[in-house]
Amino acid sequence: MIDKVYLCAICNIESGTCSEDCKFCTQSVKYQADIQRYKHKSIEDIIKEAKIAKENQAVGYCLVTAGAGLTDKKLEFVCKTAHAVKKAVPDINIIACNGIASVEQLKELKSAGVDNYNHNIETSKEFYPSICTTHDWDSRFQTCLNIKEVGLQLCTGGIFGMGESEQDRISMLKSIKELNPISVPINFFHPNDALPLTKNTLSVEEAFNLIKLTRDTLGDEVMLMIAGGREITFKEKQYDIFNYGANSIVIGNYLTTNGKTASTDLENLKKLNITIAQDCNN
Ligand code: SF4
Repeated sequence: MIDKVYLCAICNIESGTCSEDCKFCTQSVKYQADIQRYKHKSIEDIIKEAKIAKENQAVGYCLVTAGAGLTDKKLEFVCKTAHAVKKAVPDINIIACNGIASVEQLKELKSAGVDNYNHNIETSKEFYPSICTTHDWDSRFQTCLNIKEVGLQLCTGGIFGMGESEQDRISMLKSIKELNPISVPINFFHPNDALPLTKNTLSVEEAFNLIKLTRDTLGDEVMLMIAGGREITFKEKQYDIFNYGANSIVIGNYLTTNGKTASTDLENLKKLNITIAQDCNN
């Protein structure tokens, strides 16, 4: 078992407004999943949540918007928000997660105080057309390259349990390795009846082995975060993820599903004698 974990909090600053057709995502308007949908969360509420994240010892705070990418208006809103969060909570890493982005857009985010950008490649290049037809994998990969080009720290990962083959998993991990990110969020598909994908057939053992495969493929340096699907996949065994190579989790709620309350995670980590990292570099 590792002795230190990194906690990261997510804030959905625009929710459920996306016109893309990713088959795993309840934020797509196409599937009419029963989730909260709103255009902009107020900056006041976003700052309030950032302060709570900091109290919960999160080292990162992620500003997520639904949608394929950034429009001028959305970019302006994220920049304004990042600037306000940086001022109110200066000692938390700000991560932006706003879809496909150009070098110019990423430069603006960086100037506004964004430290990291999260853009998951989701799955292998080969399997991607089976889960999304409205944009392609190459534009996702290119965004990751753009992130590195402007000097933002890259977080990129994907989802297991969408019906991909073993080969697809290896291919995705190879692509992630090529990108050399600082942090890799791994999600386990959370089924929802409204989505075209309704099942995740992975067993708990398979899911643990996939965490191990990810760690073995990517090496010891990377922050390996288990994000969405932790509770429903691992249930009472969820802290065993740290025995298989994970060293980071999302604290609090996910984008459209509730996680454990932060206090339960904090209590359980304490019981396991796991230290919580106080910044991204220690
Ligand atoms: S582009 Fe992003 S927000 Fe839109 S459906 Fe796909 S994963 Fe969901």
